[in-house]
Amino acid sequence: MIVVMKSGASQEQIDRVVENIEQLGLRSHVIVGTERTVIAALGEKRDGAKQSLERVPGVDKVVPILAPFKMASTEVKRERTEVASGALRVGGKKVSVIAGPCSVESRAQILEIAHFVKEAGGSGLRGGAFKPRTSPYSFQGLKEKGLELLALAREETGLAVVTEVMAPDQVPLVARYADVLQVGARNMQNYPLLEAVGETDRAVLLKRGPSATIEEFLLAAEYILKTGNTRVMLCERGIRTFEDHTRFTLPLATVPYLHQTTHLPVVVDPSHGTGKADLVAVMARAAVAAEADALMIEIHPNPEKAMSDGFQALRFDAFRELMADCRRVAEAIGREM
Ligand code: PEP
Ligand code: MN
Repeated sequence: MIVVMKSGASQEQIDRVVENIEQLGLRSHVIVGTERTVIAALGEKRDGAKQSLERVPGVDKVVPILAPFKMASTEVKRERTEVASGALRVGGKKVSVIAGPCSVESRAQILEIAHFVKEAGGSGLRGGAFKPRTSPYSFQGLKEKGLELLALAREETGLAVVTEVMAPDQVPLVARYADVLQVGARNMQNYPLLEAVGETDRAVLLKRGPSATIEEFLLAAEYILKTGNTRVMLCERGIRTFEDHTRFTLPLATVPYLHQTTHLPVVVDPSHGTGKADLVAVMARAAVAAEADALMIEIHPNPEKAMSDGFQALRFDAFRELMADCRRVAEAIGREM
């Protein structure tokens, strides 16, 4: 349920509602809006709860939350959420860009890429240190060494570091180095992991599972929000369909649909979404036109030599061109980049 306070309700009245919600055995979540405050009451349905809350002074009305995801829903919070972490801000007027290699490979590689991303106008540096690989024989990442190199790249460039965490017991280590914890597509429904990142003070980039519906995606985000971390970004990275001309199918209608159903910012990853370097730039432009809040792009100075996902990595000159083209699209729809 959502308890909508009258405009001008006092702090005491808000506190009374919170107390009441907790006495009913429900969790409360206060959202201070520009016009009025709403308080979400979350948990199992309780008989008489609505009537009881309606009687508290300062309450305007009590309405049910129809969506199965509660804290993520626009029913609870209409204003868009902007997630900020270090140099990265996602969800405002500016379309942000997170770029970098699939995997951190060496000190020279990540520093060269980081300086280039900075110069090209990106604000986040992505790079995997713990890599989820389909084959156990493929390169698994530099692990803690990779995290140290990412931290060094942040020190030199000021970019925010976005990197994947694969298991709950890795969360404290990765959170020590990262600005944004990435939960990968394969782990979207790893509930202990979602709760573990929910307990940190780091922003989270949650990637959509290749076979997850939007409802399942938002319920996964809800796990993080419910645990207490409200800095969640959703990332569309393509789904598995019968189609095989691309690595995954990148459904861009997800972006406006998510903007209708959730206040959380939406990131698009056209690199995994297409799996083909020569399709990435066009889909990046389309994602900006569809009102994505940020792009996440894999780049590499020498894709043939990349230790993972080289086939979808953009060379520096192609990335520079992508930035210029996307900037024009962003301006055409009243955004900045
Ligand atoms: C990645 O970002 O490199 C990655 C492994 O992505 P996904 O989880 O979307 O496959
Ligand atoms: Mn990759």
